Amino acid sequence: MVFTLLVLTGISARAGEVAVHWGYDGHGAPAQWAMLSPEYAECAQGTRQSPVDLPVSAGTDVAVEPPARMEVFHHEHALDIANNGHTVAVTYDDGDQLIVGDTVYRLEQYHFHAPSEHTIGGEHFPLELHLVHRSRDGRLAVLGVMLEHGLHNARYDAVVNHLPPAPGAKTHMEHVNIDIDALLPASRSAFSYVGSLTTPPCTEGVRWLVLRTPVGIDKGQITQLAEVLHHNSRPTQALHGRRLSATGLEAIDAP
Ligand SMILES: [Zn+2]
Repeated sequence: MVFTLLVLTGISARAGEVAVHWGYDGHGAPAQWAMLSPEYAECAQGTRQSPVDLPVSAGTDVAVEPPARMEVFHHEHALDIANNGHTVAVTYDDGDQLIVGDTVYRLEQYHFHAPSEHTIGGEHFPLELHLVHRSRDGRLAVLGVMLEHGLHNARYDAVVNHLPPAPGAKTHMEHVNIDIDALLPASRSAFSYVGSLTTPPCTEGVRWLVLRTPVGIDKGQITQLAEVLHHNSRPTQALHGRRLSATGLEAIDAP
C-alpha cells in the first residue's frame, strides 16, 4: 500500500530561533553564508570544508585505506520524503549502517544536490546523492554518489515518482522495497577525506566517502529531480593541505 499525505509546515525557524535565510543565490548565496549568522562562521573560516574537487585517478601521494562496509536491510521500509526548501531528503524507519575503520555510523537520511557538489577532475555531474550517517557519539559520515545521464533506473523510481514539489511538503509511504545498495553503482572504489557539512553551519569533522564511478539514471528522472531541487550546490572548497585516501565500499546483508 502506498499513500501520500501533504503536510504544510513552514520552513522558517521555530519559535525562539532567529530566521536566517540561507540559500544558493542572492543575499543568502554560499559566499554570504558566514555573514548571515555568527554560527555560520566556519563556512568562511574553516580549513576542512566540503565539497572539494577530486582527481580523476589516485596519484602516488594518495594513501590506500581498507574498504568501508555497508550493512543493508533487505525488507520493506516506511519512507518519508521531505522537501525542506533546500533539498529533498528521504528518511527511513530502520537503519542501514556504514562501518569505517572501527566506527559504526547509522543511516539517518539521504538527499540530493543538483548539480553535483563534488567534482571529479573539475567536472560536475548532473546530480549528487548524499547518504548521511551518524555514529552513536554524534560523528557524521556521508557517502556521496554521482548521478549521470544513462538508462532508466527503476531503483530510483520510489523516490523520483514521489518528490514533494513544494517547500514544506512531505510524502509518506509504507511498505516500500528499497535497498540502499541498489542505488549505488556496481564499481565501489571511492575517495575518502575529512571535510564538513556542505550547508550552514558548515560543521567540520565529517568523514566523506565519495564513489568514483557515477550511477546512471535517465533524462526524465534527472529532470524530475533537478526541477524540484533547483540549484542547490555549494562550490568546491580548497583542500588546505588535506590528503585524500583511496578506499572502497563493500555492501553486506544486515544480520
Ligand atoms: Zn548534501
